[in-house]
Amino acid sequence: MGIPTVMGAVDLPYTKLDGRELIVDGYHGSVYSDPSPGLKAHYQDIVEEDLQLVAGLEQLKDLPCETLDKHRVALWVNTGLMADAMLSLERGAEGVGLYRTEVPFMLRDRFPSEEEQRLVYREQLQAFAPHPVTMRTLDIGGDKSLPYFPISEDNPFLGWRGIRITLDHPEIFLSQVRAMLKASEDLDNLRILLPMISSIPELEVAQMLIYRAFDELLDEGYNIQMPPIGVMVEVPSAVYQARELAARADFLSVGSNDLTQYLLAVDRNNARVADLYHSLHPAVLRALNTVVRESHSQGVPVGICGELAGDPSAAMLLVAMGFDVLSMNATNLLKVKSVIRCITLERAEKLLAEVMTLPDTESINRCIETTFEACGLTRLLKPKLPE
Ligand code: PEP
Ligand code: MG
Repeated sequence: MGIPTVMGAVDLPYTKLDGRELIVDGYHGSVYSDPSPGLKAHYQDIVEEDLQLVAGLEQLKDLPCETLDKHRVALWVNTGLMADAMLSLERGAEGVGLYRTEVPFMLRDRFPSEEEQRLVYREQLQAFAPHPVTMRTLDIGGDKSLPYFPISEDNPFLGWRGIRITLDHPEIFLSQVRAMLKASEDLDNLRILLPMISSIPELEVAQMLIYRAFDELLDEGYNIQMPPIGVMVEVPSAVYQARELAARADFLSVGSNDLTQYLLAVDRNNARVADLYHSLHPAVLRALNTVVRESHSQGVPVGICGELAGDPSAAMLLVAMGFDVLSMNATNLLKVKSVIRCITLERAEKLLAEVMTLPDTESINRCIETTFEACGLTRLLKPKLPE
C-alpha cells in the first residue's frame, strides 16, 4: 500500500510515543522519536525525492518491460485484497503472479463457503481479465493462522503448513478449487499455484484432486477450461527436485521469502536474527539460478513471487538468471521496470557472472551498487542511512 512500515520492533516503548513526532524509515527498519531538525531535513529530502521519483516513473506505466536489447520480462503483481488489484491495474500490471487466498479467509470468523469464495475469486479474475491470475491454494500455518482454525506447534515453520494442511483436509482443498474453477467460467484466465510442495507425491495428489474437481464441474454443466497448475519452490527439497517438479507441472514460481528462511535457517519474523536474513546471500542466488536452469531444461516457465522480485537492486540479477515472470507488490512495479528498461541483457549477465563469484552479501551489494552507479540508477537504490 506504499505505507512505510517497520516490523518486529519489539523493544519500541509504544506507550511513551503517544503524541510525539516520529520518523518511520521503512527502508532501513528504523524509528526515530523527537527527531532533530537535521534529521527531519534529511528525511524530508528523502520523502521529496521519492515523490519525484514515483511521479517520474508514471510515464513507464504503458511501456513494455524489456531490456535495451528487447529481452522481455513479464511484470506481475501479488494481491490479496481488492484494493491491491485496483492499485496494480493503475500501475499497468500484466497479470497476477500470486493471489494469496488466505487473505479472504483471514477476514472472516469462519471458513468461507464455496459460494462465498467463488464470489471473491470471480472479482479478482474479472478485474484482471484477460490477463492471467495465479491463485495460490490456502497457505496457512507457519506465520499465517486463522483464528477459527488454531494450530499449536513447537516449530510451526517446520510443521503443518500450506499444502500439508489442505491435503490432510481434502474437503477444504476441493471446495476451494471448485470455487476457483467456477469463478473462472467464461474468463479462462485462472492459474492454480500450490504452496510448500516438498515432494513429488504431494504435487501428484494435489493435481489428482484438481482434475477430480474439474471433471465434477464439467459433469455439472460448467463451461470451464483446465487451468495451468504451478508449484511454489520455497523449500530446499524443491530446489533439488526442480527438474522433476517442472516435468510434472505447467510452471514454477519461487517463493523467495520462505526459501531464504529455510536455506539460511533464519526465521523470517524473528527480529533477533533479522540481520542474518539476506535475500542476496550467495547460497540463495545459487538456488535461484538452479531453479531457473532446471525449469527451463523441461521447457517450463518459471517466475519468482517473493519480496526479492520487487527489489530494484535484485532486478538485474533475476533478469540475467532468466526468470520469465517477476511478481511483486504494486508499489515497486515501476521502479523495477525502470531498472530493466535501462540495461541490456548482456550487461545484466555480466553483473550476474561477477556476483556469482563473490563470497558474501556485502560484496554482492557493493558490486550491484557499482553497476547501478555506472548506469545512472543510484536513485533507485535504498537511500543512505543518516550520518
Ligand atoms: C514466499 O514465501 O516467498 C511467498 C511468496 O509466500 P508467502 O510470503 O505468502 O509465504
Ligand atoms: Mg511462502
